[in-house]
Amino acid sequence: MARVALVTGGTRGIGAAISRSLKQAGYVVAATYASNDAAARAFKDETGIAVYRWDVADYDACVAGLRQVEADLGPVEILVNNAGITRDTMFHKMTPQQWKAVIDVNLGSLFNMCRPVIEGMRARGFGRIINISSINGQKGQIGQVNYSAAKAGDIGFTKALAQENARKGITVNAVCPGYIATDMVKAVPKEVLETAILPQIPVGHLGDPMEIARCVVFLASDDSRFITGSTLTANGGQYVV
Ligand code: NDP
Repeated sequence: MARVALVTGGTRGIGAAISRSLKQAGYVVAATYASNDAAARAFKDETGIAVYRWDVADYDACVAGLRQVEADLGPVEILVNNAGITRDTMFHKMTPQQWKAVIDVNLGSLFNMCRPVIEGMRARGFGRIINISSINGQKGQIGQVNYSAAKAGDIGFTKALAQENARKGITVNAVCPGYIATDMVKAVPKEVLETAILPQIPVGHLGDPMEIARCVVFLASDDSRFITGSTLTANGGQYVV
């Protein structure tokens, strides 16, 4: 029987590429989103992938959403925590709301999604959890104290959860993309992109969402069972760890 994979923020950008690639690899996929119904509908019509709307920053919504996915498709064996947002500004201008929104969506969501899936994974003796962190959680980024803190937190979360569950057939890994051509990066002013970001990427171009999706498909597979607690860096050489 095909395994069920759930991808948060799976209807646009990197998440959409992950959802498509997992489907192509033979998984039954559920893709979640926050509010962009038009994008989700278009994605569903094009791919045939089931879509679900809830806020990953809301624990009760995650529990209810997961329950619905499992009732529709079966137990979730692969969880990809991909949903993320930015609220960029210099720290001395950052509001508590900008701080909290970014921490809740990019880091709080890992608790909110992993907590309700982990018991089933432990009981079944199999699970794959893949958390999409960021290069800016590894190196820090001006204007992103909130985002860098959340994404660094994702890595610590990954390492601890991996160790707790290693004997239960569950692997937990993080992927740290560099700059990838999605709506999130298109929001960066063109001049900043061309003068400040592209010159820092040794390969000379932005990444493609499919390049991150292929990392995720590998980490979801049986072939990766000896890899847990790791951070897979895919950034065109921009930050070498
Ligand atoms: P996009 O902005 O293109 O897509 C984000 C997705 O997340 C959308 O499906 C969106 O739903 C969903 N989402 C946002 N907030 C919530 C929420 N509160 N609840 C549920 N779903 C939510 O992002 P990217 O594809 O660029 O980024 C994907 C991940 O990769 C993020 O975690 C990001 O931080 C990380 N990343 C991205 C990089 C890049 O260069 N693009 C670099 C490094 C890391 P909706 O469509 O409804 O808005």
